[in-house]
Amino acid sequence: MEREDLLPFRPLAPWMLARYGRATHRLALDAGSTCPNRDGTRGRGGCTYCDVEGSGTGAQKDGLDLRRQMEAGLARLARRAEDGVPPAVVAYFQSYSNTYVTPERLREVLASLDPWLPEGGAVADGAPRVACVALATRPDTLPEWALDELARLKEERGVDVWLELGLETADDEVQRRIHRLHTLAEFHDAARRARAASFAWATRSSDCPATGVKARAAPRSSWRRAAWRASRCTT
Ligand code: SF4
Repeated sequence: MEREDLLPFRPLAPWMLARYGRATHRLALDAGSTCPNRDGTRGRGGCTYCDVEGSGTGAQKDGLDLRRQMEAGLARLARRAEDGVPPAVVAYFQSYSNTYVTPERLREVLASLDPWLPEGGAVADGAPRVACVALATRPDTLPEWALDELARLKEERGVDVWLELGLETADDEVQRRIHRLHTLAEFHDAARRARAASFAWATRSSDCPATGVKARAAPRSSWRRAAWRASRCTT
């Protein structure tokens, strides 16, 4: 029995190797969005552990639009080709909440990847291509129109779409204390809808090492269930 078979979750690296047939690297992108925990819709000031760049690269503020971020990132990744085979790329919209935008803005952001998607025209032979588009967002900012838009991208351009739904902890009281300001119920709802739309989705949960706040005993089993579900890819 392989060591992976003993784990209570499916490790990502072998899954990606099997799916894309080559090494896969994540390319972090900053679409210069915001989030409802900053602009007053849900709260102001953001989560206690978040930085001013929305936990991302800050590339937009440095004047790099998405196309230039892609070009620079892909040039770096091209050096990682193995036996002349370029890596597959996960275009990862990391900063802020990437579905907390207008439909027009989400379309514009996704369109910035056009040249590097399957069937895109501008990629030289042997250059890395995007195999997967990943968006980080909050569970309370995942409208149906955004799921539809992402489903269209997946269908029309033949890429995987992943959603990263921030959770951090399954304890609503801890969520409040770290100023995260959404609930476990909202997370479950977003995860259910993402799964119904056949997207792979994942979560991250830190149990708040930055704050030293620990989730209480009762919701911890709920955290384990959430993490276990999150580890299962559904594409
Ligand atoms: S929800 Fe995300 S972007 Fe917003 S403050 Fe928290 S960590 Fe930062």
